[in-house]
Amino acid sequence: MRKKFVAGNWKMNPTTANDVVRLATEVIVGLKDESRVTVAVCPPFPYLGLLDTLLKQHQSSILLGAQNCYVEKDGAFTGEISPAMLLDAGCKYVILGHSERRHKMGESDGFINQKVKAALAAGLEVILCVGETLREREGNQTDAVLDRQVTQGLADVKDIAKLVIAYEPVWAIGTGKNATPQQAQDAHAFIRQRVGKLYSDAVAQALLIQYGGSVKPDNAATLLGQPDVDGALVGGAALKADQFLPIVRAGVH
Ligand code: PGA
Repeated sequence: MRKKFVAGNWKMNPTTANDVVRLATEVIVGLKDESRVTVAVCPPFPYLGLLDTLLKQHQSSILLGAQNCYVEKDGAFTGEISPAMLLDAGCKYVILGHSERRHKMGESDGFINQKVKAALAAGLEVILCVGETLREREGNQTDAVLDRQVTQGLADVKDIAKLVIAYEPVWAIGTGKNATPQQAQDAHAFIRQRVGKLYSDAVAQALLIQYGGSVKPDNAATLLGQPDVDGALVGGAALKADQFLPIVRAGVH
């Protein structure tokens, strides 16, 4: 059975170190001894070191992730951050291809694919986000979009043992409008089947596929109860410990 994996994507929040410490401490203390679900938090870059120290102080099993990285190891790339730096800062994961980066920063499937390869080569584990817009869903393009994002995102990636896919329908992110459990299940099953074709059935069966998009304490259990939903990538509700903790617990079998 695949162990559930819940990650908090804090996006560009909180905005002060004090608030970061408060939120992180509540999450760390609240999830002490919780080993039935894999948990990660992904704060903004400036707070990675702070989080790494806090997690170690508390001997927490919560893992650290970043929200983006660049494709090069080092060099003259002003403002960019390399996968090796993230590893050195204590990260295990990096989120790549989030819809906010695809749609607000104009990242292409090809660029995301370069990042996936660079991150895996450096030894990071990748959370690769895919998902259709409302327009694409209404135009019956969902499967085609997922197919393209998965196939191109994973182009020339030989081994995906260290990769998680997050299905995040763009219309459900930050809108309070989550996909129905059936819509999530259908998309996850489709992604798993595509991965099976690209790799093998065994690889597809082992792959973790998170759902993301307005996951809240009141919908987490039904979403995570779907057979192909292996966890959640949580945005807004990850910024409040009293919402994030019950979402994690919804992942306990
Ligand atoms: P949300 O964000 O939970 O606020 O909808 C999810 C995400 O963007 O990862």
